[in-house]
Amino acid sequence: MAIESQEAVSAAILKRLSEIRMRMDAAAKSVGRSTQDITLMAVTKTVPPQQVNVAVAAGVTYLGENRVQEFLSKRDAYDRRAEVQFIGHLQTNKVKQVVGKVTLIHSVDRESLLSEIAKAARQQDLIQDILLEVNIGGEASKSGVMPDELGALLEKAMECPDVRVRGLMTIPPRFETVTQAEECFARMQSLYQQMKITAPQLEILSMGMSGDYETAIRYGATIIRLGSALFGARVYPQPQL
Ligand SMILES: *Cc1c(COP(=O)(O)O)cnc(C)c1O
Repeated sequence: MAIESQEAVSAAILKRLSEIRMRMDAAAKSVGRSTQDITLMAVTKTVPPQQVNVAVAAGVTYLGENRVQEFLSKRDAYDRRAEVQFIGHLQTNKVKQVVGKVTLIHSVDRESLLSEIAKAARQQDLIQDILLEVNIGGEASKSGVMPDELGALLEKAMECPDVRVRGLMTIPPRFETVTQAEECFARMQSLYQQMKITAPQLEILSMGMSGDYETAIRYGATIIRLGSALFGARVYPQPQL
């Protein structure tokens, strides 16, 4: 692979960002929404902080972290104008390393994780903002609470003074067709509206990634999480032989 200059890499990020913003605008307009109600999150996995900061300097305000170790090793190098949020699967034994260090945890999908987060928040004397992650495709291998168990988890979370539930998040299955994506996002939107009846304070619907963010916007997403559309294809480190 050719080694690109830092300037070329930055220019490519800025070009992708302006394309994304145009597409966000068009998708929002097509359903009568305002782009201001939708926040673009830059998903940083495998991306060096220097490149992440190019996006922040260009106005990206949310950074999404997947892995605890990677987050801890990169956080000090990030431009402080951005808020860092946690979007990856979270093991209960790593909760303490995340609570209080991120403004929002998107991936709360079970009671044991909820109580661990609450405990860590209480110890630090803070209230941790969270989203509940829903397994909208009902796939056995995926994280996320099943839709029919969401109400019970939401109730538990609302009883808990150490966390504040701000909304819902989903990672839908990989789709063959746009129609399948639409079905999932539509189901997620109606679930969100249903939950808002008992919890009107919910205001965040985190859904849509590089391949489907325009569809997600049309179904009410308020945070879209983009990695490759912004930074290019991810390059995972080669295992050492
Ligand atoms: C990697 C990741 C994304 C971004 O994926 P892209 O397809 O590269 O945009 C979004 N959300 C989560 C939870 C992720 O792990």
